[in-house]
Amino acid sequence: MEHAPSPVRLRLNGNALVDNWRALAKLSGRATTGAAVKADGYGLGAREVVKRLSKAGCQDFFVAHWAEAAAIADIVPPGQISVLNGVNEGDVAFAMQLGAIPMLNTPGQIARWKAGGGGRCHVMLDSGINRLGIGPEQMDAAVFDGLDIDILASHLASADEDVPQNSEQLARWMTMTATVKCARKSLANSAGIMLGSKYHFDLTRPGLSLYGGIARPEMADIIKPVVHLSAQILQVRQLSAGDAVGYGATHICNHPSALATAAIGYADGYLRNFADTGTVFIGDVALAVIGRVSMDLITIDSSPFPSLAEGDWVTLPYDLPVLAAKFGLSQYVLLTMLGDRFDRHWT
Ligand SMILES: *Cc1c(COP(=O)(O)O)cnc(C)c1O
Repeated sequence: MEHAPSPVRLRLNGNALVDNWRALAKLSGRATTGAAVKADGYGLGAREVVKRLSKAGCQDFFVAHWAEAAAIADIVPPGQISVLNGVNEGDVAFAMQLGAIPMLNTPGQIARWKAGGGGRCHVMLDSGINRLGIGPEQMDAAVFDGLDIDILASHLASADEDVPQNSEQLARWMTMTATVKCARKSLANSAGIMLGSKYHFDLTRPGLSLYGGIARPEMADIIKPVVHLSAQILQVRQLSAGDAVGYGATHICNHPSALATAAIGYADGYLRNFADTGTVFIGDVALAVIGRVSMDLITIDSSPFPSLAEGDWVTLPYDLPVLAAKFGLSQYVLLTMLGDRFDRHWT
């Protein structure tokens, strides 16, 4: 059967994605640049992201789960996929069969990989985020003995801020990596790239900014938006002064108004925060979101555009740094919560 038509659409700009990767690669100087494509490419769709970045020359893709590695294994050479969460008991055989490479995070994972005859691997050191990785207190030459390490990595906790933790992590990373043999070293995420060449080493691992996220303010002029939302109008009616709109009757019309109902709601990731503050566009005419956001619907005062009709499409501005600041949310959340009812349409 054909793909069911959807009344909600994500227009994803493939050129902007590739331009962002190239811009980050340029900012990474002599380091090569990979791509974090976990969580289904931050909600955009990992396969389409990987196809485009692979074609552009990207050779290192980072996912969190083995299922995410399996989902892209047929479109990139297996050695180019790194699995950040490492290997538990059940994973080693699967990993070897798939040919994706685990990021080993603990002495236990390393022992498991060695026992399973795993071969080439990556290793994560914890230089201060205290989340995943071999900690400074666990550093012992015996742990790494006999390992064939491709990427030796660590992750920055606060690269999006100007805080002493960045240079402290860098210093600890330098100490920790001094005697560990590896083919490549990698420290910086999107924000870390902007901290300068000292942080770049051999390979950078941006995620957020590939997808249009502004990890640090100085990237605002460099990184292009990739994700654009639109939704279809299901119904248009005339309301009188005094009529109440939506759950809880939170909006009362103070004059006769045209009401349009569009097929997008908080189940799609269009948050309830947009109630009475959101704006949608038809062409360049701005229309206000009125009343509450429902699970599958929003209501719009379409009076400024009287010819708006059933079946028309409206666009919904989704400026990541602006919305993150306005709603007190992270840009990562705003991307990854975009639901699977969207028809993801690459242009
Ligand atoms: C998610 C992730 C990245 C990418 O980080 P961004 O902040 O999205 O650029 C890089 N490295 C690791 C280990 C990650 O978990």
